[in-house]
Formats: sequence, C-alpha cells, structure tokens
Amino acid sequence: MGIASINPATGEKIKGFEALTDAAVAAKLNLAQQGFERYRQTSLSERARWMQAAAQILEDKQESYGRLMTLEMGKTLAAAIAEAQKCAWVCRYYAEHAADFLSDTPAATDASQSFIRYQPLGVLLAVMPWNFPFWQVFRFAAPSLMAGNVALLKHASNVPQCALAIEEIFQQAGFPDGVFQTLLIGADKVANLIADDRIKAATLTGSEAAGSSLAAAAGEQIKKTVLELGGSDPFIVLESADLDAAVATAVTARMLNNGQSCIAAKRFILADAIADEFQQRLKEKILALKVGDPMDNATDIGPLATPDILHELDQQVQACLETGAKALVGGKPNQAQAQLPENLRQGNFYPPTLLTDIPPGTPADTEEFFGPVALAFQVPNIDAAIKLANSTPLGLGASAWTTNPAEHDRLINELEAGAVFINGMVKSDPRIPFGGVKRSGYGRELGVQGIHEFVNLKTIWIK
Ligand code: NAP
Repeated sequence: MGIASINPATGEKIKGFEALTDAAVAAKLNLAQQGFERYRQTSLSERARWMQAAAQILEDKQESYGRLMTLEMGKTLAAAIAEAQKCAWVCRYYAEHAADFLSDTPAATDASQSFIRYQPLGVLLAVMPWNFPFWQVFRFAAPSLMAGNVALLKHASNVPQCALAIEEIFQQAGFPDGVFQTLLIGADKVANLIADDRIKAATLTGSEAAGSSLAAAAGEQIKKTVLELGGSDPFIVLESADLDAAVATAVTARMLNNGQSCIAAKRFILADAIADEFQQRLKEKILALKVGDPMDNATDIGPLATPDILHELDQQVQACLETGAKALVGGKPNQAQAQLPENLRQGNFYPPTLLTDIPPGTPADTEEFFGPVALAFQVPNIDAAIKLANSTPLGLGASAWTTNPAEHDRLINELEAGAVFINGMVKSDPRIPFGGVKRSGYGRELGVQGIHEFVNLKTIWIK
C-alpha cells in the first residue's frame, strides 16, 4: 500500500507519499542529535511557553485538524475535533506540571544530602498507530519534550498528512529545529533506526506483533522501550448495577472511534440475573446507531480505517457464528454498505454487531475485535465474572458495574488490568497513568509516571 492517504469512507486515494531515502533519514537523525544538545539547555519555562503555544494552535485549528483525521482514518468529525481539543489539554497539563514533576526528589540516606534528579535521555523514537492519529502522538510528545528529550515520529502509513501536520504544529509553536520531526518511512526501517547510537529509547503504540518486533530490536541494543498494545477489555455488569447507566455507557464504550479503540469495552460479561435485559437494551441502542459519512454530524459510526481491518474483523465474527454464536444485531458484512448512498459503497463500513451465546474456543476468547462488534457472555456470579475477565492474554483496562462496595474491592484487587474503572467507562486522562499488563504492554503514559518513563532518574549522593 505504501505511504498514502486513502479516504476510508469512499476508498478514494487522496495523496501518495514517497518514503524518505536513507540519506534523508540520516540527515534528520543528525538534526535531532544536534537539536538535543541545544534543547536540553533550555529552561522549563521556555519549553512550557512553546508547549502552551502548541496547545493554542491545536485549539485554533481544531476544525481543520479534525477534518484531516476524519479524511485519513474515518472517525466521526465530532470525535476528531474532540481529539484535537484533548491534545491541547495534554500540552497544557504538562506545560503547567512538568516543573513540579521534574524537580529534585529528596531521599533520606547516610549522605549529608541525597536526592533524585531527572534528566532527559536524548533522541526518542515514537512508532504510532492511526486510530487516534493526534492523541497517541501528543500524549507521548508533551511529557517527553517537556523533560528535554527530542522526538522522531514514525507514524502509521495511512495517516501521513496527520503526521506532517503534527510536525508543523511543534515548529509553529516555536520549538527549536530538530526537537520534533516526522519520518515518512515504512515499518521495515524501524529496526535499523533502533540500532543507531543516537536513538536512546523508543515507544510503540500498536499491535502485539509490532510491539514485540520493536522490543526485540531494542532489547538487542539494550534500549528502554514503552509498549502500549491491544486490549480485549471486559465490561462486567453485576446484579446490583444501575442498568440505565450501564447500558448507556456500554454502547459508547464499545462503539467509540468506530469501535477501533484499544480501551474499548469489547467483552460484556453479564450476571445471569440481568443478562437478558441488558442484551435486549443494548441491542435497541445499537440498532439506533446511524452508520454513514463520518463528516456528517448525524453519523454515529463511520468506516473502519482500512479494508484489511474490515476483513480481519469479519473473519473473527464469522468464526464465532460458525461455531454457534448468535448475532442479536448485525454480523452480515455487506449489510452496512447496502444501506449507504452510492458514493460510500466502496467504504470500509461494518454493521454494528452484538454477538451472544458465544461458545468457548472462538477468537472471542483470546483476540482483540477492532471494530463495532460487542461480544456478550453470561456468568452466574462475580467469581465467574473475574475468572472470565482474566482469561485473555491481554490486560489493558476493565470496567465493572455494581453498587455493592464489597464487590468493588474484589474487582479492584483481582482484575488483571492496567486500569479498573468502577461504574464508568475506561478512558485516558492526562492526570492519571495509562498502560497495560500482560500482552497489552508495559510502561505508563500520562500522569507523573508518564514523564518519568524517558528520563535518567539520576541518584545523587553528597557526603
Ligand atoms: P500496527 O499495525 O501495529 O501499527 C502501529 C504502528 O507500528 C504503525 O506505525 C506501523 O507502521 C508500525 N509497525 C507495524 N509493524 C511494525 C514492525 N514490525 N516494527 C516496527 N513498527 C511496526 O497497529 P495498528 O493496527 O495500526 O493499530 C491498532 C492496534 O493498536 C490495536 O491492537 C490497538 O489496540 C493498539 N492500540 C493500543 C493503544 C494503547 O494505548 N494500548 C492505543 C491505540 C491503539 P505501518 O503503518 O507503516 O505498518
């Protein structure tokens, strides 16, 4: 496919890009290294001023950045504009808090004075996915740049215009040359980059396969990595739950971003006592969703980002149906297209789907379903709910609904996930750390923890 913008709603190729030559990549690496030598000397207040300027640009141009995201990857325009606003928030958050997060931390020892000092590592490589094409980049870049590092971005090959727009935002905000650069390159160039001495650490948000490959290359070079990978998050609803709130949240938690979010609720684990009612009410809400042109404000669900994602999702759904699962809604791949206007018939639309009665042994047990497909399971009690929730290899987030405080404690303590949200949907927020356990990855972004991932925590001991 190469590096190209292809409108997922129409299949139309908007613009193709030549990958950078090796010589051009080398020049950018040089600029990054030279940029770091100067940038590390800048004060936190200068960096904060540039970061605030980046936030302002994002806010001022939220509509045009929103259109760009929608054009390249198909999320609804309203969601894309909200994403630009959230990026401004994370820039402002770290502009305001970095000085506090990076101030020396005293430690009492046998020294007359001992403390921890936080220093930048240098050039960081960020390999990013298309699903939140601005947010994923900004939530890495805002803390990393505030800490004095410089960044090279290898973005997903289907969002090159977003990648270039982000580079331009940091330039226009006033960050010095070489502090943030986009590399239009294929994934096959990443391992060589990691091997370059000038790159000190790397982060990847994306699939398990990509994460594993980047971490292997970095491991060989003894370089630090942070991995934010997939999720098959449970959404547990127990007998005492507020069903109105749970059902209303369930549909958003699953269908957000056309179903393509790592922390989307993917497996609905329902106590027997409320399962039938919950499924019926979820079915009604799903039937009411409008699939269509993501630029149209009335649309709830746009296309999937690429034909491959649609194909893979459909294979997973059909595998469940073939072994006896029932489609309470959707499940037929061509159903969505048939109801669309002519100009959208070549788009990657998948009908919002609710699968129930899923037997063991299907992809629903272990795989992430990256699209608007809800998987419902019934369990007799909280023990079975926790056991099923923990039965996947992934461990990103978990949402659980119950008004019983004793159950809250059990869910908080026993769910294997990087985050547990009680009576709410899992979300990312600059103020709290974000990341997974098990095959969902390691390390944390956001919060104070996020800015400490890519620094040298230097121990200082003075007699
Ligand atoms: P992907 O195929 O892994 O792509 C992500 C990025 O990795 C792209 O820039 C891609 O480049 C690059 N890449 C692919 N293979 C690589 C390799 N072998 N070595 C180095 N880089 C490689 O993932 P995706 O399908 O675009 O994104 C969806 C996945 O991301 C889902 O699993 C989702 O759950 C996960 N995700 C996780 C989080 C989180 O915070 N945990 C957030 C969002 C998404 P090319 O585009 O050039 O192939």
